[in-house]
Amino acid sequence: MNLLCDLCVPIDTRPVPMCRELSGTIFRRGYRDCVTYLMNKNQSEKLYTKATQYFPGGVNSPVRAFRSVGGTPLFIDKGEGCFIYDADGNKFIDFCCSWGPLILGHANPVVVEKIYQTVKNGSSFGAPTRLENELAELILTNNPFIEKLRFVSSGTEAVMSAIRLARGYTGKDLIIKFDGCYHGHADSMLVKAGSGLATFGISSSSGVPEAVAKDTIVLPLNDRSAIEEAIKRYKENLAAIIIEPVPANNGLLLQDKEYLQFLREITKQNNVLLIFDEVISGFRIGFTGAAGYYNIHPDILTYGKIIGGGMPVGAYGASSEIMKRISPDGSVYQGGTLSGNPVAMGAGIATLKECLKEDFYSSLEKKTNLFVSALNSFSEKNNFPFKVFSIGSIFWFAFSEKEKIQTADAIDPLSMQKFNVLFNDLLEKGIYFGPSGYEVGFISSAHTDDVLNDAYAKICDSIKYVFDQIAIK
Ligand SMILES: *Cc1c(COP(=O)(O)O)cnc(C)c1O
Repeated sequence: MNLLCDLCVPIDTRPVPMCRELSGTIFRRGYRDCVTYLMNKNQSEKLYTKATQYFPGGVNSPVRAFRSVGGTPLFIDKGEGCFIYDADGNKFIDFCCSWGPLILGHANPVVVEKIYQTVKNGSSFGAPTRLENELAELILTNNPFIEKLRFVSSGTEAVMSAIRLARGYTGKDLIIKFDGCYHGHADSMLVKAGSGLATFGISSSSGVPEAVAKDTIVLPLNDRSAIEEAIKRYKENLAAIIIEPVPANNGLLLQDKEYLQFLREITKQNNVLLIFDEVISGFRIGFTGAAGYYNIHPDILTYGKIIGGGMPVGAYGASSEIMKRISPDGSVYQGGTLSGNPVAMGAGIATLKECLKEDFYSSLEKKTNLFVSALNSFSEKNNFPFKVFSIGSIFWFAFSEKEKIQTADAIDPLSMQKFNVLFNDLLEKGIYFGPSGYEVGFISSAHTDDVLNDAYAKICDSIKYVFDQIAIK
């Protein structure tokens, strides 16, 4: 391992000059012992090179490719509790948690055991099993917002089906979604705002026909008059408004409860359905998700991520009255070869049973609040334009001075450069975040106080480094 790389530039009087290349920019680091911070990525790099021969961009989901933070992705060999280990044996505290599903951390023994016991008896039958009933019962008896549900295999599929249901139920076609909310990759959700408020959307991905995109209207979050105008203009053909009640896929754009209540009321008054996409917030900010947190009853809810305990599961649910429109009871078709897969149901059952234990969510939230408020005090003391937003056990690092960030527009794209420096510096210190500044972090029940204290110290050091860099430049 080289102490100094080819690009090292000695700077002023510091004893161990070193530099690193990050996102095409050379950073000089003189004030730390570089040996500690030189991570070996040989195996990951080799695996990535191979992967690029097999997959577009070397990955099976784009954000994994590290394009926004620079460098190449880590290939992960193993997860245990709140730690992951990469192909080179580097160990990281994991705040990505598979993008949210792993609320119990990696390889939770109870979940692993349930998966073993289930798969021993076969992995799929294409016929009903008692495990589907069991998971449904766990959910329905503890969730007053849905009476019936249908299991699918991903969040995308849940949203796609919920939209079809909304259209089938209302006999109308238009959908309103919000800029800054992500709902998976169904065609009708890959749409951005057209020119002017309340005009038809245009596709945000090649391959999505304009004919599909124009049935989606994209509005800014937290803007009541935009909603009023769109409803006035389109309500005759407006099937539903879909929102992430806790928008957590484009920063963490926490909405006011009053705004969500306003959406509930105006949709009800105008015979428009309200869909809460709770793929990320469901079972995360409480067992009943955002609907329970804000005590707002939407018409249709979608779930994913935690519901499958790390296996591919999604679900959508509603009142019996709305759900009876789904085939074979009704005329809205929706099915799946591996839907309700027993092994995946088993992982979901084991996970949700843990979530239902007393104080599960309150202790998770308490841990997160301590961690987040410590980081915020550190930032305030140093007058850094940096703030951590959080709800439940979700948090987001914003390089911003704003007190509230509630719309996609309020995020400064240039602030992502600072996140990228932070991300790479933390990686060197053994802390793993989702590789994009637009992604949130998650705390699991496996993150102990000691681990969080350790992470806190390292994150403070790295935040200071980010702002020192700016001062050096
Ligand atoms: C993750 C997510 C989706 C998509 O789920 P996949 O399982 O990735 O298809 C949809 N909506 C929200 C709110 C999500 O967070």
